[in-house]
Amino acid sequence: MAAMDSQVEELYRRVVARNPGEAEFHQAVREVFESLTPVLRKNPQYTDAGILTRLCEPERQIIFRVPWVDDHGVVQINRGFRVEFNSALGPFKGGLRFHPSVYLGVVKFLGFEQIFKNALTGLPIGGGKGGSDFDPKGRSDGEVMRFCQSFMTELYRHLGEHTDVPAGDIGVGGREIGYLFGQYKRITNRYESGVLTGKGLSWGGSQVRTEATGYGVAFFVAEMLAAAGDSLEGKTAIVSGSGNVAIHAIEKIQQLGGRVIACSDSSGHVIDDAGIDVELLKEIKNSRRGRVADYVAERHASARLITDGTIWQIPTDIAVPCATQNELDELDAKALVAGGCTVVAEGANMPCTPDAVRTFAASGVRFAPGKAANAGGVATSALEMQQNASRDSWDFDYTENRLAEIMRSIHETCLATAEEYGTPGDYVVGANIAGFTHVADAMLSLGVI
Ligand code: GLU
Repeated sequence: MAAMDSQVEELYRRVVARNPGEAEFHQAVREVFESLTPVLRKNPQYTDAGILTRLCEPERQIIFRVPWVDDHGVVQINRGFRVEFNSALGPFKGGLRFHPSVYLGVVKFLGFEQIFKNALTGLPIGGGKGGSDFDPKGRSDGEVMRFCQSFMTELYRHLGEHTDVPAGDIGVGGREIGYLFGQYKRITNRYESGVLTGKGLSWGGSQVRTEATGYGVAFFVAEMLAAAGDSLEGKTAIVSGSGNVAIHAIEKIQQLGGRVIACSDSSGHVIDDAGIDVELLKEIKNSRRGRVADYVAERHASARLITDGTIWQIPTDIAVPCATQNELDELDAKALVAGGCTVVAEGANMPCTPDAVRTFAASGVRFAPGKAANAGGVATSALEMQQNASRDSWDFDYTENRLAEIMRSIHETCLATAEEYGTPGDYVVGANIAGFTHVADAMLSLGVI
C-alpha cells in the first residue's frame, strides 16, 4: 500500500477533525486516500477543483427520530439515517442497514465506499447509504412492519426514482423492503417501482437481485483465479457469515467447483468437511430464522460447531469474509497465510482491517476489496432500476449473464488500472483509482456544486 503524500495527509487530518468520533468513516477515507497519490500527481485538475475535499463531504445528511409501538404497547424510539453522499453519476444509491451498531460513522463509511463501488460498476448510480440502530433480532413481523412504516413516513420526502433509491443491507431484506415500499406507495399515492430495489418478484423486483452480491463475489473470485491460469475446481473456501451474501457466495462457489468448508454467525462457526449444504443453511436461516448451531444438529455426521477462536484459523485456499466490517484482523490474516490461503475477496463492506490487508499484500495473497468484489449487488439493483424504468422484466439466465459480465468488466478494470499506475495485480489500487477517476471526471464536468 502506498503512503499518502503530505497534501493528502493534511486533507485526511482535516476530514478527521471535521468528523470527530467516526472511526469507520476515517478508516474508509484513509484507505481510498492511500491509493490516490499517483493519480493526483498526474492530474492536478482534480486538486485544483477541490474534488477530494468535496468527495468527503456528503451532499446531504438526514438524521431523524423513528417512533414506534412494540407488541407490549411500549413506545420505542430509534434513530434513522440517510447519508446522500454523491450524485455526480446518478441518483444516490445504496442500502439501508438495521443493526444496533449503526450510527453516523458507520453510515458514512458505507456511503463513502458506495460512491466508488457504484462508479466501478459503470452504471449510472451515485452513492448513498442509510439505516437505523433498530435491532430486528427477536422482533415480530408486526413490530418490524410498524418500525418500517414509521421509518418511511419520515424518509419518503427525500426519496424518488431520480433522487435517491435505497435497497437492503444487513437486517434489511425482502420483508423490510416490502413494508417500506408499501408505506412509500401509500403516502405518495404513486406506484413508483424504481424508488427502492430488492423488491419481490411479483411487485417490480428483479431476478437474481437476492443472489447478486454473493454470486458476484464468486464470479469475481473465479476471475481472480482465471487471471492466474487457475480455477475454483477442487479448491476449499471459507465464507464467514451466514446471511444473504454468505449463503449465495457459498452456493455459487460450489456451483463453480469449489468446496466451502465453513461459515459462521454470532453464535460461532461451523466446519463441514463435506462442504456446506446450502439448501439446509437457507432453510435454517431464511425460513426458521435459526442459528448455525441448528445446522450442526442436523448434519452431525460431517459438521461441528466451534465457539472459540476464529473461523480464519481453518486451513483453506480461499477466504471470503461476508459478515461485517473489521471482522478479520492482522492475526486472522497471519493465520490464513499460515494455512495456505492465496486468495481473499471481501463479500462484506470493509471486513478486513488495514493491518490485515497489509499482511495479505506482504505475503503475496491476492486480495480483492469489497468495492470491487461485492459490487454485484448494487449493480443488479441498477439492472432492477432499468427494468422498472422500461416496465419490463428479464429472465433469470439473462440477468445472471449481465451480472457475470459486469463482474468480469470490474475485474478487468481493476487489473488494467493497477497496471497503468505501476502496481500490477494490486486490486485495492485498481479499484480505488478507477472508481475515483470515473466519479471525479463527472464532478469536474458538473462544476463546483
Ligand atoms: N447494500 C448493498 C451494498 O453494500 C447493496 C446496495 C444497493 O443495492 O443499492 O452494496
